[in-house]
Amino acid sequence: MCSTASFPPVRFGSDELKQQFLVPTIAGDVVACLGVSEPEAGSDVSGIKTKAIRKGDDYVINGGKMWITSGCQADWMCLLANTSEGPPHKNKSLLCLPMKLSGVHVAKKIDKIGMRSSDTAQIFFEDVRVPCKYLIGEEGMGFTYQMLQFQEERLWAAANILAQLENVIQETIDYTRQRKTFQQPILYNQTVHFRLAELATEVELLRSLVYRAVASYIQGKDVTKLASMAKLKAGRLTRELTDSCLQFWGGMGFTNEVLVSRVYRDFRLLSIGAGSDEVMLSIICKYMDTLPKRQPHKS
Ligand SMILES: Cc1cc2nc3c(=O)[nH]c(=O)nc-3n(C[C@H](O)[C@H](O)[C@H](O)COP(=O)(O)OP(=O)(O)OC[C@H]3O[C@@H](n4cnc5c(N)ncnc54)[C@H](O)[C@@H]3O)c2cc1C
Repeated sequence: MCSTASFPPVRFGSDELKQQFLVPTIAGDVVACLGVSEPEAGSDVSGIKTKAIRKGDDYVINGGKMWITSGCQADWMCLLANTSEGPPHKNKSLLCLPMKLSGVHVAKKIDKIGMRSSDTAQIFFEDVRVPCKYLIGEEGMGFTYQMLQFQEERLWAAANILAQLENVIQETIDYTRQRKTFQQPILYNQTVHFRLAELATEVELLRSLVYRAVASYIQGKDVTKLASMAKLKAGRLTRELTDSCLQFWGGMGFTNEVLVSRVYRDFRLLSIGAGSDEVMLSIICKYMDTLPKRQPHKS
């Protein structure tokens, strides 16, 4: 099941949508994907171009999506599209889109450096007709719903990496304890065991931030700032930690046979997907009231 796609119908979908799309997804009978990013709009979600125009009892969808996880095999997509001409934060809606409909074209499977066990697709829509009852929640609320989904996804991403980082440290300890250079275990070099201690400390700091953010979330508080900080820190720490540990494995670290090289490749994504580090920094700055105000264009 793709929890990123399921979140909006779980929170805002009608009972009919839940029965039709969520029940088989949760049962593991169908695969879902989330369609937000586009070739020309990744970081700036407000800039998406895909349109869903109401015609009679249907929305007619034209446009395309990029970087869609499980897009090659998904049975339905939680799609973000422009449903009116209004301001970019109020003209978008989320729809459940069955992927087998006429006019849905999976254009290509993208060849990635990591996360190779999941497919990632570029998809086009050509006059795809979806019943209006497949709208999730209210029309025009799609951007807001999507931002709420990102908040959960970012918290999940930070929580999800903790065990991986601990495993990489532990495997590096085990390897460097048994591997000897110059008649002693590599681990006995102070640069190695001190560095591993520093990284373990960083992981604990990340864990504390994640736990605090999750506790606030459970209390119903706005955790946008903490979730953005946790995602930012998780991405950066993962890059730092896997790079340091990989080094201590020597040539073995450069093979596809060890965990550290896989985490190094796969979780490079953490600083890019679901909002890049720079987008996280912008959100944090917004909460700190340090973002420069944009001047209106003069004609
Ligand atoms: C493997 C993978 C799976 C994905 N899965 C999905 C999915 O299932 N569904 C989906 O909708 N999307 C998915 N994405 C898309 C992902 O969310 C986007 O890649 C991400 O939001 C960045 O958008 P972009 O790639 O268009 O980069 P761009 O928006 O072009 O940004 C490129 C870089 O520019 C910099 N940048 C951007 N804005 C700013 C700024 N304001 N200030 C300073 N620097 C900035 C950042 O360094 C950023 O990394 C996936 C991506 C990947 C790689």
